Amino acid sequence: MSEKLYEAIIIGAGPAGVAVAARLAQHGRAANILVLDRYHFPREKPCGGALTGHMDPALAELGLKNRVAKAPCESALIRYGSFERHIAMGKEVEVIRRVDFDADLVKQAREMGVNVVEGEGLLSYRRESEYIVVTTTKGRELRALVLVGADGAASKVRKTLLANKKETPHRLFMCAMKVPMPEGHSRTMVYDFSLMDRGLRGYLWLFPAPDNSLNVGLMHYPAKGCNLSGRDLTEMLRQGLLPYGIELPAKGTRGWPVWGYHPRARISEERVLTVGDAAGIDGLTGEGIAVALEQAIVAGDAIDAAIRTGKYSFSGYRRQIRKAIVGQELSLDRWLARLIYGSKYWREWLALVLLDDEVIEMYARRVDGTEILAHQKFRLYKALWRHSFRFRRRRKELKAHIVGHLRP
Ligand SMILES: Cc1cc2nc3c(=O)[nH]c(=O)nc-3n(C[C@H](O)[C@H](O)[C@H](O)COP(=O)(O)OP(=O)(O)OC[C@H]3O[C@@H](n4cnc5c(N)ncnc54)[C@H](O)[C@@H]3O)c2cc1C
Repeated sequence: MSEKLYEAIIIGAGPAGVAVAARLAQHGRAANILVLDRYHFPREKPCGGALTGHMDPALAELGLKNRVAKAPCESALIRYGSFERHIAMGKEVEVIRRVDFDADLVKQAREMGVNVVEGEGLLSYRRESEYIVVTTTKGRELRALVLVGADGAASKVRKTLLANKKETPHRLFMCAMKVPMPEGHSRTMVYDFSLMDRGLRGYLWLFPAPDNSLNVGLMHYPAKGCNLSGRDLTEMLRQGLLPYGIELPAKGTRGWPVWGYHPRARISEERVLTVGDAAGIDGLTGEGIAVALEQAIVAGDAIDAAIRTGKYSFSGYRRQIRKAIVGQELSLDRWLARLIYGSKYWREWLALVLLDDEVIEMYARRVDGTEILAHQKFRLYKALWRHSFRFRRRRKELKAHIVGHLRP
């Protein structure tokens, strides 16, 4: 076993792991932490690459920068059948390629003095009274006061914390294509809900990507009775792209099960905590890059406090995440996802979001990060009250938009 006792070993050098490392470096702990990733960077990661939400302030707070090629988007187009709504973004949302973005974040962590080891993963870990022992895929045994599971959606740390509890994941499928966005949409993010009429519980996206290319994909929420296989989802993606004149290539669509954030899920235990996808993504949008960074700030501060006080229970960590803006937004989105995707009255709820001018604007501000949706609860409740008088009419209106659309 290695002699060195690290203050923290972080598993995973994706955005979550690098961000925790950056936060600990800001606390003066760079020399005493270790980041392990099972892959070598640059590595691919299936992702839409949209840096939504509170990405910029989170990067700035962590002393990190977005230094890679980006496709700036100044508007969003929301669709459901023939329903279309263009919304100007309060500030541009940038779309990046994860292969570049993640590799550059690792570089920035190293520039902060953090030791990032690539090609060596977590095999298992065990708790001793004063520390955690990490066994790596190269057979090394390393010791740390704290273990951070930033190991993504397939997190071993999460599985251990949840004792392999059975969960149903969200599913996201995407394909990067070397074709430009459809004409007229070169700086527009397209969110298309039309496939909900065919059983998808989520949306299809088309995002402009750097170098005049395109990122397409869809998100599916685990609603009861709406089980769709990978093949079904790929076929849906193919069909959903047809009205845009885009042909999905036979190969290259990749899917990934991810876990939605739950405010009561176990995300820590003594000397161990999880961050990013390992702790849960946004259940409504499937997004998690900004979420990972915002959670990492809370996690880094919690680890620093634990080392200073010698109290390693992390019993308050779940509450700290829940009370932070990121946790409040995740909880709100979880609730909205259950209404819009999880309810049998999904059309009524979708009508609220799409046909209520105030709600659709509010959500656009949440996506571009210029407003905090969790601070707009009163406006949301008012919109709900308004909706209760109009939902029949709006449902009918929405239904009329889909008739004939996408049907064989
Ligand atoms: C198809 C798709 C589209 C998406 N689109 C968007 C989007 O447009 N915008 C957005 O904000 N979010 C999006 N997301 C979500 C986003 O990709 C994740 O939320 C984000 O990657 C979370 O970062 P992370 O660091 O927690 O996990 P990851 O980025 O997955 O990083 C985890 C790291 O841990 C490493 N690792 C795993 N296991 C081990 C181990 N045992 N030992 C060592 N290392 C390990 C992995 O190699 C990896 O590098 C999308 C997700 C998918 C699947």
